[in-house]
Amino acid sequence: MHEFSLMEEVLRAVRDSAREEDIRRIHRVQMTVGAMGCAFPPALETAFSVLTEGDPLFQGAALEIVERAVRVRCATCGWEAIGRDARFVCEECGSSEVEILAGEELTVDGYEGE
Ligand SMILES: [Zn+2]
Repeated sequence: MHEFSLMEEVLRAVRDSAREEDIRRIHRVQMTVGAMGCAFPPALETAFSVLTEGDPLFQGAALEIVERAVRVRCATCGWEAIGRDARFVCEECGSSEVEILAGEELTVDGYEGE
């Protein structure tokens, strides 16, 4: 499953960083996932709990996902819409010059630990 390999990469980066910072226990990992991104938050959460199970570094750690709605704007007339599914035609003027302003994010924002 796609979210598992993604989460493996996220955890590898967090582990490497924690080792460098001499962090022994992670409390939370924060991510931003856009509604149009390629990952499904519940699947990421499942992957997180499966992949961190039995790992003392992540004992009791939580994954926090901020979900970003899709925002699009027409480059021709300035029409904006939020939370629509991906329709790339302006509802005002019919232009197909619709830009995606937000909703494609897939980032690790950071983690907390000690
Ligand atoms: Zn338009």
